[in-house]
Amino acid sequence: MMNSLELFERAKRTLVGGVNSPVRSWRGVGGTPLFFQRGEGPFLRSVDGGRYTDYVCSWGPLILGHAHPEVVEAVCAAARESTSFGAPCPKEVELAEEVRRVFPSMELVRFVSSGTEAVMTALRLARGFTGREIVLKFDGCYHGHSDGMLVSAGSGALTLGKPDSGGVPVSTASTTLVVPYNDLERTSEAFGRFGDRIAAVIVEPWAGNMGLVPPIPANGSEEGFLEGLRRLTSAHGALLIFDEVITGFRVPEGGVQQRTDVTPDLTCLGKIIGGGLPVGALGGRREICEHLAPLGPVYQAGTLSGNPLAMASGLAVLRVLRREGVYDTLEERAKQLAEGMAGAAAKAGIPLSVSRFGSVLGFFFAPELPRNLAEVKATDAAKYPPFFHGMLERGHMFAPSPFEAAFVSLAHTEEVVERTIAAAADVFSAL
Ligand SMILES: *Cc1c(COP(=O)(O)O)cnc(C)c1O
Repeated sequence: MMNSLELFERAKRTLVGGVNSPVRSWRGVGGTPLFFQRGEGPFLRSVDGGRYTDYVCSWGPLILGHAHPEVVEAVCAAARESTSFGAPCPKEVELAEEVRRVFPSMELVRFVSSGTEAVMTALRLARGFTGREIVLKFDGCYHGHSDGMLVSAGSGALTLGKPDSGGVPVSTASTTLVVPYNDLERTSEAFGRFGDRIAAVIVEPWAGNMGLVPPIPANGSEEGFLEGLRRLTSAHGALLIFDEVITGFRVPEGGVQQRTDVTPDLTCLGKIIGGGLPVGALGGRREICEHLAPLGPVYQAGTLSGNPLAMASGLAVLRVLRREGVYDTLEERAKQLAEGMAGAAAKAGIPLSVSRFGSVLGFFFAPELPRNLAEVKATDAAKYPPFFHGMLERGHMFAPSPFEAAFVSLAHTEEVVERTIAAAADVFSAL
């Protein structure tokens, strides 16, 4: 068989950049990406024969680890009954009921095939429902790759956004406002200026795409960031959208919304609910969702939406997650990793701060947790590539890019995590 180096050379001849998603090219850390042959619980096996403890977990979906037997069995059984109906099937009803049981704010649900699509549809729905055009997002939150979300802050304070990717029309970007995360004051100013034109505020209620940044109260304020967003959106007739694609099903209560008692109007899910198959979902208040086709004028469709394999996979994952003690184990293991890494770094005199929500973690080379993208960028990210490669040499795979979250799965045992911490101690002392 070809090794990773040969495969990458071959891949580059037909696949753009040799990959199907840019972060996989390892440009963020240097070197040649590994190609993988199989996953076994917490481990990845490369085509070169290496075995790596996996802390990427396919960027979040694999909360049970690789090839969990019940998931594999459910997908195989579903495949034998057809890979796609293009028509209603029972499993999509079951998964929708399970989603609503855990996320009561999602009174009606629509399944799509990716998180990107879930967000894209939620935004269209918010615009269709409110009859307004502007969407406010926060710098450093990732909501998939639809045009309106690939936008960065405009030049002046509180101006509409500008394209952050080639091919995004200026006119589209100019319907997006970008404000720093955790900044209620700027959000409030934005409402002061554009209030009656803002259809929705979309937020990752724990920001999991710039490491992992928690929501916090503003300096000297009692009110939390998410509570403030709820207050402002309600006061101005705008919708609040929680993008819980990463945080959804991360804790027993479901996501951030039940933990904080802030109820969004719409919620986007993805990743875990497909258990490694392509799924996204959006849902929320009934009167809003009833604006979606076929009930209402806001159009959305999908050939493979509610796909039986993906539904079976999601159902199998959620079934395991419901079992007694599963979240306690996930919590314990993630806590062990968080504390172990922080301790190992402290011993080596490396400033490292660690954030955690359930089984997702953020590591920052900084003495304190950053609160927004500017502070994330001000951390010592130059330490990340040597950390990444040091860990890889020792058989532990973290994200091939700084500022990405780390994930722990149910398959990661105490011993597995302990070995990772020991390797990290080694790597930190060499940094
Ligand atoms: C991954 C992610 C998305 C996009 O999901 P895809 O399935 O990759 O399209 C959207 N929002 C958040 C918060 C994500 O982490």
